[in-house]
Formats: sequence, C-alpha cells, structure tokens
Amino acid sequence: MDEKKTLTILGSTGSIGTQTLDVARMHGYKIKALTANSSAALIERQAREFRPETVCMTDAAAYNDVRTRLADTGIKVVCGKEALCATAALPVDMVINAVVGMVGLEPTLAALNAGNRVGLANKETLVTGGELVKAAEKANGVDIVPIDSEHSAIFQSLMGNSQNKINKIILTASGGPFFGYNKERLRTVTLEQALHHPNWSMGRKITTDSATLMNKGLELIEAVRLFDVTPEQVEVVVHRQSILHSAVEYEDGAVIGQLGVPDMKIPIQFAVTYPKRLPSLSGRLSLFDVGTLTFGRADEETFVCLAEARRAIAKGGTAPTILNGANEAAVAAFLDGKIPFLCIGELVCGCCEALPYSAEVSLDTISEADRAAREYVGAQIQKGSL
Ligand code: NAD
Ligand code: MG
Repeated sequence: MDEKKTLTILGSTGSIGTQTLDVARMHGYKIKALTANSSAALIERQAREFRPETVCMTDAAAYNDVRTRLADTGIKVVCGKEALCATAALPVDMVINAVVGMVGLEPTLAALNAGNRVGLANKETLVTGGELVKAAEKANGVDIVPIDSEHSAIFQSLMGNSQNKINKIILTASGGPFFGYNKERLRTVTLEQALHHPNWSMGRKITTDSATLMNKGLELIEAVRLFDVTPEQVEVVVHRQSILHSAVEYEDGAVIGQLGVPDMKIPIQFAVTYPKRLPSLSGRLSLFDVGTLTFGRADEETFVCLAEARRAIAKGGTAPTILNGANEAAVAAFLDGKIPFLCIGELVCGCCEALPYSAEVSLDTISEADRAAREYVGAQIQKGSL
C-alpha cells in the first residue's frame, strides 16, 4: 500500500495537469492546491472533486469567475504570480509543475526553497534557469524528479548506477508530424497539421515545438541541466514509434533504456511514487504488436531550431533564455495565426544571432533576456519582414 501522498499541481487544467489528477484519483492522493491561468469551469470541477485548500488563478478575470464559482465551498481562491509562488511553497509531498512556459521558473524555485520535492514537466524552467534550479535543489536537499518522458526514461536508466561513468545519453525524438519534409514542403503546412502529433496528445505549445523539433532542442538543454552531461554527450535519435523513451550508454558499452507505450501517466506516476512503482492505468507494451523499432538522424538543416538550441547551450549564460523567449513568442504568434510555420525557426535563429547574451545567470538577467527576446520577435512580426 502506498501511503496517501499530498500533491500540489501547478497547471492542473492542462494536458499534464489533468493526467496528474487521473493518477491522483486512482491512488487516492490528497490535493493541497490547484493552479491554472484560465479555464474557470474546468478548475471548478477539479476543485469540487479533489477539495484542495487553495486554488490559484493567474488571470484576473478567471480569478473573479472562479471565486464566484467556488464561493460555497470554503476553498481559498487567490490570484497572481506572487500567489502562485506562495502556493508552490505550501508544504506537500510533491509539487507537480505542469505549467507551460518560463513562467514556471519562479514557482519551481519557491517550491524547492520551501523544501518541497518537485515533479517537473515544465522544461522551460530548466532551459532558462537550470543553474538556479539545480543550486536550489542542492541547497535545500530536495529532489527534482523529471516528468518529461525522455528525461524520466534517462532518470530510470541511471538508477543504481551513481558510481558509473556515462558515455552518452540517447535522447529519442518522434520526429513530429513533418518528419522527412524539406523546407519547400514546410512552407505550406497549416496550423492544423502542426497540431496533429503522430504519437502523443499534448498541449498546443509543446505540440508545435514537436513539429519544429524545438522540443528536442529544449530537451537536449533539459538533459544537460538535469544529468550534468555536456551537450556533446547527448545524441538525438529519431525513433518514430516513441516506444524507447531514451537510454544511457555506460563506459563499458552497455546501453540501458526504458520502453513502454507512449502514455504520460507512466512518468507522471513514477515521479510521485519514486523510487517505488505501483500499478497504473496505462496500457501495456506488446512488442509483437509494435513489430519494428526504427532509428535515424534528425535533419538539423531543415529543422533549424534543434541546431540553434545546441548553439545556445554551448554559449551558456542567458543564451538558452533568449532561445526560449523567442520561441515562446514565435509559437504564440503561430498559434494565433499571425505567422506561418517556417517563420518560427527564422525568428528564433534571427533573435539568437541578433541579441547579446549575458554570461551571468540570475533571475534579473534571465527576465531581461526573456523580455528582450520577446520584444525582438514582436518587432519583427510587426515589421512584417518575414
Ligand atoms: P497545457 O497548455 O496543456 O497546460 C498548461 C497549464 O499551464 C494550464 O493549466 C494553464 O492554465 C497553465 N498556464 C498557462 N499559462 C500560464 C501562466 N502564464 N501562468 C500560470 N499558469 C499558466 O500544457 P502541457 O502540454 O500540459 O505542458 C505543460 C508543460 O509540460 C510544458 O512545459 C511542456 O513542455 C511539458 N510537457 C508536456 C507533455 C505533454 O504530454 N503534454 C510531455 C512532456 C513535457
Ligand atoms: Mg518529451
């Protein structure tokens, strides 16, 4: 029997957030707090079912709506970015950070500084503030357990091997919906096509990142941050079936990986139960049904975001924040129908080339780099010079 854990879920209305609540429902976990940006009706349903002490909304209009909806429940409803950090700091067994974007950085730090373990889906946190997060993890003696499927696979492949030297990390990539396309074909792809991922059902931002391969670029940086390896030690391998979720090669040549059906509930649950495993709601892998697993190289000349991410982590400092900020702004514009698909990569590369980065990493330099990157992208779109 698993003891009944208490969780706070940041971003409970999203793809990872709702799946975390599925896991919590199955195992009877208590929910201390739920947070979201908007989606008042959904968070009301979640709050009525899981009875958290606190609900935090970051959007002011949604906050007013949720406060009215939950007026009869005695649940405390709070609003804003500071309240989100205070919510992340409430004492719990684990804070699940399932927020999208670098807005997740400060709540991650607040959770760690309050001594909370963190189950981290929010990769933008590590891309922008990886050094700060790792320092807070160490200073507070608490774990960060990755939820991103590849990083969960690497984390699992490292278990029991703390004394052993890693040769390289094999980071698998599905290749996204546009695998095999050249630039010419990418010129005319639509938003609808970009949002149709072959193997995973996810939020709109990460689905777009998967189509540009920026997701793999962000994950390469995430792996460098989490596992203390060099960027050169991370080998990106396109594996269309998303069955091998990533692997580690040790110095003797042995490769240890984690396989399973593509279902985020497996890494979400493992983050909470680690180092134990429990029964789960997820489907089982039949290698007979899968039949063939294929592996190949990514086309980094066409999918320029991945190559740009490599350059950003090699530069270090705030360069990954500039990459991330430009990408967040460009993807938002793409999702709003303001720019075509190929412009995402052009804007990200243009921004990384144009803006100076700072070697010093602090919350101030990160937020300045993020602001400048978004401003650059906004100005380019306004100019219509794409
Ligand atoms: P999503 O868009 O489905 O959900 C995002 C959540 O964050 C929502 O609850 C939303 O209300 C909240 N949010 C959005 N903007 C916010 C803001 N400004 N302030 C506070 N909260 C805000 O996203 P998702 O697909 O669940 O992804 C969440 C994170 O997990 C991302 O970093 C993503 O890269 C990572 N991730 C997701 C998956 C997946 O399968 N969806 C897999 C691996 C990693
Ligand atoms: Mg992933």
